[in-house]
Amino acid sequence: MVSRVIPVDDFDLVIFGGTGDLARRKILPGLYLRFVAGQIPDGARIIGAARSEMDVPRYRDMVAEALQEFVPAARYDRDFVAAFLGRVFYVAIDAKGSAGWQVLADMMRSNVVRAFYFSVAPALFGDLAEKLHSYAIAGAQSRIVVEKPFGRDLQSARALNRALALHFSEEQIYRIDHYLGKETVQNLMAVRFANSLFEPLWNARHVDHVQITVAETVGVAGRGSYYDKAGAMRDMVQNHMMQLLCLIAMEAPFRFEADAVRDEKLKVIRALDAVMPDQIVRGQYSATPQQPGYVQDVENPASRSESYVALKVAISNWRWKGTPFYLRTGKRLRARTSEIAIVFKAPPHSIFEQSDGWHENVLVIRLQPNEGMTLSVMIKEPGPGGMRLSEVPLNMSFAEALGDDADDVPDAYERLIMDVIRGNQTLFMRGDEVEAAWAWTDPIIEGWEARGDKPSPYDAGSSGPENALMLMHRDGRRWREIKT
Ligand code: NAD
Repeated sequence: MVSRVIPVDDFDLVIFGGTGDLARRKILPGLYLRFVAGQIPDGARIIGAARSEMDVPRYRDMVAEALQEFVPAARYDRDFVAAFLGRVFYVAIDAKGSAGWQVLADMMRSNVVRAFYFSVAPALFGDLAEKLHSYAIAGAQSRIVVEKPFGRDLQSARALNRALALHFSEEQIYRIDHYLGKETVQNLMAVRFANSLFEPLWNARHVDHVQITVAETVGVAGRGSYYDKAGAMRDMVQNHMMQLLCLIAMEAPFRFEADAVRDEKLKVIRALDAVMPDQIVRGQYSATPQQPGYVQDVENPASRSESYVALKVAISNWRWKGTPFYLRTGKRLRARTSEIAIVFKAPPHSIFEQSDGWHENVLVIRLQPNEGMTLSVMIKEPGPGGMRLSEVPLNMSFAEALGDDADDVPDAYERLIMDVIRGNQTLFMRGDEVEAAWAWTDPIIEGWEARGDKPSPYDAGSSGPENALMLMHRDGRRWREIKT
């Protein structure tokens, strides 16, 4: 299989926050890898814009260091790096003042795509939008890219949407959820809508329940002050896990295009039932002799934020009524793994004597590690001795299926940035989607804040708090094991 690189038009991409962590770790390496793939045209420029005073050579040195550090060694090539740096420029700018803005305005070229990546704190989004407008840097064809967190509740998300809408239309705004750029997440749509096999079974009649797990082994050290104000619900569930849930649950859009897809996702969010307190378990990892616990990591002994959350979600529509979706995510868990498991109903009646080891079919879509899909099926154990059944996986690893091309599969940021240049919003969140997700999340968070609920402690390296098991057990179900 040969990866195809579809060329994009000439562009000027301005990265506000071009000296920041995200730019260094993800955006610039992503652009470099697209450059190596031959997708960055000769007429493209990447312009870092941030508060630090520095000239272009110094910024290029900084970019070179970032590439050395964050591009996989096998794909790092000195000659390519040198050529890439020739496309990189820098302007020192203050989002809140006038410094640098006229310089940036004078740099802009006509007849190329103009894209502006807001890789800065959300508090600066409104200032940047206003400056781009007042200095006539952005026009009707320009695009802006905004990072998470998009608000911390419905009210703040609305305020952000309003601030951006003063100067940009919805068609110009690209709200990033990098989960949507992951290869496997898009494969989810291919599996559902490019095969006839699964869709007839994809409903409450055949699916017993769905489990979505995003487990991390790392704690929150290093970003504790941000995380402690957010917690797992805001940091993971409202955005990434909600998007995964939407892609599993949505109806087929009439076409794979931005508004058709986003309309269907929005309908799912609007069909979510309110979550009752007994359908949520929150946790905080405890200290071990070797490692600090959550409250030490965030330096807040009284913290009531959750580093783990598990919840049972019901979708009240024709397709899903009666099939729960169980979501869980947490830090310092046993293994780093993200997967979606579609657990089908057991056959209505067993004609075989064996009653133990009877399993439902499960379709597992692995986002990481080892991206791929597994369908577990029951077969007869080989050999004489009667009809003994066992479960075997039909396993597809994308890396194996794609062979050498797997190394060339772009990561989420590479794909999403190129989509911005192409003007394709399909994998970006629309303003109403984000607001609907907050409208569903807010009462959950307000509920536990009003009650003063404390998260349950859990051991680092475990599967989460004990009472999360109960969330499933009392429904006669169990979580899948967290393992790599
Ligand atoms: P950072 O603190 O490392 O970098 C911030 C950047 O903003 C710097 O380049 C700084 O010069 C610039 N800046 C600050 N004030 C400015 C001003 N007044 N005018 C112009 N530039 C100014 O932050 P980061 O980690 O790169 O995060 C950037 C954004 O991306 C944030 O919204 C963050 O929530 C989001 N994000 C980051 C990550 C990540 O992994 N770092 C992941 C997801 C989302």
